[in-house]
Amino acid sequence: MYDLIILGGGPAGAASAVYAARKQLKTLLITSEFGGQSTVSETIYNWIGTPEISGAGLGESFKKHVLYYKGPFLDIIEGEKVTAVKKEDKIITITTDAGKDYQTLSTLVATGSGRRKLEAINADVFENKGITYCASCDGPLFADQDVLVIGGGNAGFETAVQLLAYCKSVTLVHRSSEFRADEITVEKILENPKFKAIKNAEILRVDGEQFVSSLTYKDKITFEEHTLPATGIFVETGQTPNTDFMKNVVDMDSINKIIVDPMTQMTSVPGIWAAGDCTNGRYHQNNIAAGDAVKALEDLYIWVHKNK
Ligand SMILES: Cc1cc2nc3c(=O)[nH]c(=O)nc-3n(C[C@H](O)[C@H](O)[C@H](O)COP(=O)(O)OP(=O)(O)OC[C@H]3O[C@@H](n4cnc5c(N)ncnc54)[C@H](O)[C@@H]3O)c2cc1C
Repeated sequence: MYDLIILGGGPAGAASAVYAARKQLKTLLITSEFGGQSTVSETIYNWIGTPEISGAGLGESFKKHVLYYKGPFLDIIEGEKVTAVKKEDKIITITTDAGKDYQTLSTLVATGSGRRKLEAINADVFENKGITYCASCDGPLFADQDVLVIGGGNAGFETAVQLLAYCKSVTLVHRSSEFRADEITVEKILENPKFKAIKNAEILRVDGEQFVSSLTYKDKITFEEHTLPATGIFVETGQTPNTDFMKNVVDMDSINKIIVDPMTQMTSVPGIWAAGDCTNGRYHQNNIAAGDAVKALEDLYIWVHKNK
């Protein structure tokens, strides 16, 4: 029986584990892997106190800091995925995909978010066979090729800028009539002769043999179907929180972000806190995730001692 079980090993999970161990709460951290989302970034420039660090380096530093406290107050399980959380009376039971149950008085959900998947016929078939969710990881594989970027927000345009450095052509496909990216970013990239943007597109399907060869969309204004030949499709349509296992446990908003009290990070259920990208906090960054987790820890520490 633990005082606290932390779910997730990104900046929020790691920060809370350090604080929990230092406060001598009997803690277990369960994470599928350490580091969190920005481990795929080539360079991170805004982790406070560190002018430049690779995403992988930042992830390693989180893990190192957590492992430093492994001992009587901190157990760590890496490689298990939480599949269910249940609260009965005062006890919370956490179940993982290894078929194990762990019990605790309190829990902090810090499972972050992942990429929203492309919704189109065959999108699942061609994942990692031309469809990718990480330009900085996979972009160079598509040098001198025609590629598509799906999504007209800042992430989509930033991905297009990266790809234009080495791809033959980049076509950005956006579902509505206005781009969500900053105007200055859009204006600058539109001047590039290798770049083209398509608005009002409803993506229908991806085709190919072993790998992607084209994407077909319907123009929402003319209702005409068009097929764009491409060998790479970079999807940048936003994030979705990793909170499936919290459905019907705590209150969530319409896109399944956990609703928290911004003063304390407590959820609608006493004994359950949440921090970082899995919450309905308006802004999502590494520093914010870590700060929110520390705030949660301060609050839950007092709660655990009152309710033990
Ligand atoms: C490509 C990219 C670049 C970015 N660059 C920056 C940047 O330069 N600066 C910045 O401040 N922010 C950046 N961000 C945003 C930043 O990465 C996030 O705000 C931050 O990682 C959120 O931290 P988190 O701890 O809430 O969640 P995450 O980082 O998403 O970590 C979640 C953790 O939970 C684990 N997990 C998930 N589901 C389960 C489960 N069911 N069971 C167990 N464990 C689970 C994961 O393995 C992971 O360890 C970037 C994001 C992306 C995608």
